[in-house]
Amino acid sequence: MKIIDMLLKKPTLSFEIFPPKNHDGDISSIYKTIDELSALKPDFISVTYGAGGSTTEHTVEIASKIKNQYGIEAVAHLSCIDATSKQLTKILNELKDNNIQNILALRGDYPKDYDPKTAPHEFKYASELNTFINKNYPDTFCLSGACYPEVHQEAVSLEADLEALKKKVDSGAQYLITQLFYDNNYYYRLVREARLKGINVPIIAGIMPATNARSLLNIAKLSGGNIPYNLSASLERFRNNPKAMKEVGLNYATNQIIDLITNGVDGIHLYTMNRPEIAKEILMRTNNIFAEFKND
Ligand code: FAD
Repeated sequence: MKIIDMLLKKPTLSFEIFPPKNHDGDISSIYKTIDELSALKPDFISVTYGAGGSTTEHTVEIASKIKNQYGIEAVAHLSCIDATSKQLTKILNELKDNNIQNILALRGDYPKDYDPKTAPHEFKYASELNTFINKNYPDTFCLSGACYPEVHQEAVSLEADLEALKKKVDSGAQYLITQLFYDNNYYYRLVREARLKGINVPIIAGIMPATNARSLLNIAKLSGGNIPYNLSASLERFRNNPKAMKEVGLNYATNQIIDLITNGVDGIHLYTMNRPEIAKEILMRTNNIFAEFKND
């Protein structure tokens, strides 16, 4: 099923996982994660894609298992910054052959070994990947795109980022998933400004529970996001008490989700970091709230 057909009926609950990075290439640990996540009955699970990395091939394999063995819709992430059209065609054929109907089409993060001198330069933006997919695989995939409540780090302004987002949607992104954020006001601003620009597709909120002080600081640095005062104050207070920090993070994310659902969010996408217990804890705290629109 295409995710847009779900979103047109009700808000969605989804989880994001990533292919484990083991030196020996063994990814079997992810299946225990999916076992536990599938029991929570998400509408879909998305699988990240690491451009040029050793985990690239695993995205299709994991997405295929989610869809064909667990019977849950899978969204395969796909990035284009370091790819040739030939490489992308190979992956797109595999996705099609494995019955994967949903792709999160990304420019992607620059790989660590990215070298502009040798890079293919066939694709510069996610919107170009959308155009490529829709031209070569018409009516095959439901495409989605990333968006940034606190503005993408390379964009010169919110206005410029919204112009780019409009192009992404006009080139085929049927819904959007946000970068993580800890201040819901940024999400509400993005939705308001997007609608004013004529971007009318569903915008799913990406939520990452901050259960660990060090990783929260790293993530905020990487994504360029703000940590609101009340969260950073708790982080200072409990940074040496991991169990208390976990409670802070879970309660904070829970309150974010309650506020978003109260205000009519299109969907909640939990960045699980391959830790099903975090998703479980969040759903325990919001069971009756999600029950209003969760699958049976
Ligand atoms: P784009 O939409 O191409 O935008 C990149 C920059 O270019 C922005 O500053 C934008 O404003 C600007 N821009 C875009 N189009 C134009 C245009 N036509 N003219 C001028 N400027 C333009 N990364 C991975 O590598 N693998 C993943 O699996 C992955 N999953 C993600 C999932 C989500 C939900 C999110 C939010 C991000 C994810 N990322 C992933 C990170 C993402 O790849 C990076 O944030 C990357 O820097 C931008 O990707 P994009 O698709 O948003 O790029």
